[in-house]
Amino acid sequence: MHKRLFLSFLAIILITLLFSILSVNYVFQKQFSDYLARSTIETLEQLPERLSNSFYSHGCWDPNSLNSIAHSLPLGTHIQIKEPSGETILTLINPMETMMQNDSDMDMGIDMGLNYSIEEWKSKTLSIVGPEGVFAIAEVRYPARAKVLNPADQSFVSAIYQSLFIAGALVLLIGSLLSYWTSRRLISPLQRLTRAATRVGEGHLDEQVSVTSRDEVGQLATAFNEMADNLKKQEQLRKQFTADIAHELRTPLTSIRSYIEAFQDGVLPADNENLTIINEEIERLTGLSSDLKDLNVAEMGALQPNFTQVDISELIDKTVNKLTPLIQEKGLSLEWHKPDSVHIEGDEYLLTRLFYNLLHNAYKFTESPGTISIQMEPHPENIQVSVRDSGVGIPDQDLPLIFERFYRAEKSRSRETGGTGIGLALVKQITHLHQGTLKVESTQGEGSQFTILLPLNINEQINRQ
Ligand code: ADP
Repeated sequence: MHKRLFLSFLAIILITLLFSILSVNYVFQKQFSDYLARSTIETLEQLPERLSNSFYSHGCWDPNSLNSIAHSLPLGTHIQIKEPSGETILTLINPMETMMQNDSDMDMGIDMGLNYSIEEWKSKTLSIVGPEGVFAIAEVRYPARAKVLNPADQSFVSAIYQSLFIAGALVLLIGSLLSYWTSRRLISPLQRLTRAATRVGEGHLDEQVSVTSRDEVGQLATAFNEMADNLKKQEQLRKQFTADIAHELRTPLTSIRSYIEAFQDGVLPADNENLTIINEEIERLTGLSSDLKDLNVAEMGALQPNFTQVDISELIDKTVNKLTPLIQEKGLSLEWHKPDSVHIEGDEYLLTRLFYNLLHNAYKFTESPGTISIQMEPHPENIQVSVRDSGVGIPDQDLPLIFERFYRAEKSRSRETGGTGIGLALVKQITHLHQGTLKVESTQGEGSQFTILLPLNINEQINRQ
């Protein structure tokens, strides 16, 4: 990955460089050849006047003066000065051109740009005018497309290309170093994360990675740390649960065995009262095993709810009635006024479990003289049910965790109340299955309130999402 990233950076640099050089080259060539063409035309425009001046100031075609004019001619330009009758008087060529031509003829190995092939020529006939009118004609032949011929221009062009080449090499060098450094910087936190993930996979759940940035990699590191943290918590909960479940199973089993031994030894009579106690213990075991099974199935997503139209006020009323004897026996007061029927789409069995668990918790965690109140508020699209108690409340630090399976706040107290930490996990799963929401508010020492919002129609809720 590091290598691939580095090579991609490098490829981008090379492509950018290539395109920059090509475009600079193109623009430069064009500008430069335009400049050369312009200067050729300017020189040619001034030529008749210069020749005329030269002739008249000396009274003849003076070689010195002609030589200085020839020197100023653009390379590649040939001028024949003729009498108006057509007879050639002399030919003008930039002497530099002749010199360079000879140099390359002598094979001195110096190519000053003269060995080019001129495919197209342009020609012009200029009249050289004196006081008595046209006294000579200059026939000019020059390359249609100006090329770099002049050594000064030539060295200017090569200086430009040289600096372009040096800049390109520098960009390539700095770019390669930067891309090597950037790809390393990007990859090394990922490599650290991979190592940490491998360690977590091997069971070292304490593994954490340092978060050094706030970008996507930093967010990934934070998410990884949270995941490892959660795995650690889940692992602790699982261990705790195994210990608790062993305890939960052993207590009723020990009690049943003691009763049976007492019956066998004739110490206790197998009467209705004692058999009821055994039956209660068996029910506790059965309840525990069905809680476990339901939670497991719900968490695997395999719970197949049987949705029908359920009268929720009737369902809550029945659940309350089931628990009323226990609540009264404990000396708690109950506030529940059965409202008019409200039908919602739901699974009757699961919803009963949900409200039973909430009410049973309220009962378990409230001491006499306390109050448990249930309120139902129907809305056009959903129904809100809240179960409030004036019990022991839930410590702030436990609030976000109570819906985790096997989580129990204040373990010693929960053991007394005989919980396993499954009830609320199941409540959460059932609420989600019904596309509802669940909220808890609690103050330690004052009480708790669980509020459930259930849609009247599940399909509509799904469509809206
Ligand atoms: P449990 O079987 O222990 O009751 P739950 O999942 O039903 O398991 O509840 C998890 C924990 O949340 C409980 O152990 C208890 O500490 C806390 N809790 C739940 N309901 C209440 C409540 N009404 N009042 C105080 N604490 C509660």
